[in-house]
Amino acid sequence: MIKISVAEEIWSEIIICHTEYVKTIVNNRLEKVVDVQGLKSKWEQSKYVNAIELIKKLFGDEKEKRNLNLTKFCISEDLEGIIEEFDRIYKGFYKENITEDEKITLEGTKEIFKYVMGYESFNEGTNKLKSSDNFRWSRHDFINKLNIKVCPYCNRNYITSYISSKEDILIGKQRKKTTADADHYYCKDSYPILAINIYNLIPSCGVCNSKMKGNKVKDKAGCHLYPYKDDSDALYFSTPFNDIGELYNFKETEIKIGLNIKPNNNFNTKNKIIKWVAQSREIFKVKGVYKIHMNVKQYNNYIEKNKIIKRALQSKKIFKLEEVYQIHNDIVFDIKEKIKNYGHGDEKYKKEFIENYKGLFSSYEEFENYSFDFLGKDPNKNPLAKLKQDIYKQIIESN
Ligand SMILES: [Zn+2]
Repeated sequence: MIKISVAEEIWSEIIICHTEYVKTIVNNRLEKVVDVQGLKSKWEQSKYVNAIELIKKLFGDEKEKRNLNLTKFCISEDLEGIIEEFDRIYKGFYKENITEDEKITLEGTKEIFKYVMGYESFNEGTNKLKSSDNFRWSRHDFINKLNIKVCPYCNRNYITSYISSKEDILIGKQRKKTTADADHYYCKDSYPILAINIYNLIPSCGVCNSKMKGNKVKDKAGCHLYPYKDDSDALYFSTPFNDIGELYNFKETEIKIGLNIKPNNNFNTKNKIIKWVAQSREIFKVKGVYKIHMNVKQYNNYIEKNKIIKRALQSKKIFKLEEVYQIHNDIVFDIKEKIKNYGHGDEKYKKEFIENYKGLFSSYEEFENYSFDFLGKDPNKNPLAKLKQDIYKQIIESN
């Protein structure tokens, strides 16, 4: 997984666009559902009565409050906080045995959320904002603004966009297309409140989003690494060779690419008491006891690191990363061969090298930049950059 790095100004622009979209389009739909007095709308039907009451409970009784809450649910980055608010009102419906009346209310609720959030039209880009004809906002525009070119989940597939030709536009076809999916980090069926929350939408390739993930992750316990926050090094590649002799001698066919989880085992085995106390605190809420062994900051760090380990394991499993990377053993072999043959000699070697290749390279560094052109490259824009950089690092560090 690669962390999506986006400049703060870009996020601000995204939030401005998304807020306008929510206020203009989504809010109207919410009001249409809630304000049914005197209207001959479908929402008047008895199956929606209870569902609408619950919607009012969640969003508020008055129009202004609803507008504020709706905007918050679509642009706040506190996704877990939103889920908590949602669960307070809706959790009852997600239990296994529900009454007939609850079933009807649940069905109505799902239809209302689908209509109000309108993810499909955001996804397709079919909405036009009346306030300004030039302003368009859709999944495609959002992903374009993020300006990442490679899927953050696999770092293998490009996610690109193209602009339709003038001829296409003249005959009314859509202007732009993109090959990127927007994955719902928290599943929109389980948490429809987050269906168009901008921080819940992760640009990704079709393989990761549809073929690998699909509907596998239904609740938050099964979540994988979160590319807007988690570190790219939460998972890192290596070849399972320990010393430089082994590293230099392996054959291409022997290469296995391993995907490892950080922080490593040291952390888990370091202090069993800390682990025990942390767990007891979590289970029994024993305030104070943990202070004997660690302070609050250490405790929070411990819990956070454990959550990341869990998410990293899930990423590995859901996107089958280790499996799909095995076909790239030729790349690992190539990097190893280059380092073995030319890489990182001493100063004398470097001088001799330049003497021999005079005219081709003006300095040894120029040769290195040419041979290992993946160093310093942004993995958000270069497929397989993470694999190449990690393997290079492993070999150089064992040197
Ligand atoms: Zn992918």
